[in-house]
Amino acid sequence: MTHEIAVIPGDGIGQEVTPAAVAVLEALDLNFDFVEGEAGDALKEETGEALPQETRDLAAAADATLFGAAGETAADVVLPLRDVVGSFANVRPVRSYPALDAVQPDTDIVFIRENTEGVYSGIEAAVDDGVRTLTRVVTEDASREIVEFGFTYAKRNDFDDVTIAHKANVMQETDGLFLETAQEVGDSFDIDYDTALMDALAMHLVMTPEDYGVVVCPNLAGDMLSDLAAGLVGGLGLLPSANVGEENALFEPVHGSAPDIAGEDVANPSAMILSAAMLLDHLDYGDEAAAVREAVEGVLTDGPRTPDLGGDASTDAVTEAVLDRL
Ligand code: ATP
Repeated sequence: MTHEIAVIPGDGIGQEVTPAAVAVLEALDLNFDFVEGEAGDALKEETGEALPQETRDLAAAADATLFGAAGETAADVVLPLRDVVGSFANVRPVRSYPALDAVQPDTDIVFIRENTEGVYSGIEAAVDDGVRTLTRVVTEDASREIVEFGFTYAKRNDFDDVTIAHKANVMQETDGLFLETAQEVGDSFDIDYDTALMDALAMHLVMTPEDYGVVVCPNLAGDMLSDLAAGLVGGLGLLPSANVGEENALFEPVHGSAPDIAGEDVANPSAMILSAAMLLDHLDYGDEAAAVREAVEGVLTDGPRTPDLGGDASTDAVTEAVLDRL
């Protein structure tokens, strides 16, 4: 069976790491058809539009999408693209690799981030000179869906505990509803769970990450806590993610377009290649996904490494090393 994969490199280092992930998928010799779409800052400058309809259609029709990064136009590109694929869950695994000198070498956490509402609902207003507001939307349906997804993920992937992040003591209506719903769902699963105030959780994640398995978060909290955890294991160059919907899904590194290093051939392609491994899992190529992860881990162990990990290798050199191992 042929799978159509939409490939949208976007801006900055997205242009450098996306071809690396495609090269890895091509090397597996599966029945994948790659169709490339345009989006991002450069396209907006050229055409006035950051995300053209044809790129939306491409992602909607594909079996899965690989997305690199968007710069200034991120909100106009990534948010609608996640919408196009019907994604409600953002899955961000954060794990340390034994060979890397990580701040916290014993980390294996998967953040399950609500992907459709919260403070990223896009409802902002300038109500007066010097006064702006933002509306935080939390619904029972979306809360139930993300928490059920989190518990199911934990069960399927052999995690023995789930943490629910919230700030219901302050945001009593919105996170009150999220927490109440999460507890109802948690009680219906045969798995241990805790609830944690998200600010205190940030501290505990830094000090004792080994205490955590699956962490289910509202939208903004999931974004921030997973980036924080990235710092514990070696940086953003290592973190993949999946935006999962009922049927479709989009895979992207947690990092953005990294304008500070774009065009220099020094971006770490691991996050993007590991995102491709998540795509393989999603399409039921579990053995191939494991082989890709093993190849990346081998290169992280023996080198070559990009400068973010203390090495001096180029994006291309690291990609070649991963391909050699595959
Ligand atoms: P954006 O606005 O597109 O999110 P940004 O620079 O604000 O871009 P990131 O792209 O996530 O945010 O980058 C944050 C920092 O992490 C930068 O210093 C960047 O160089 C570094 N970084 C991110 N991804 C990588 C990578 N793949 N390899 C090496 N360094 C990276």
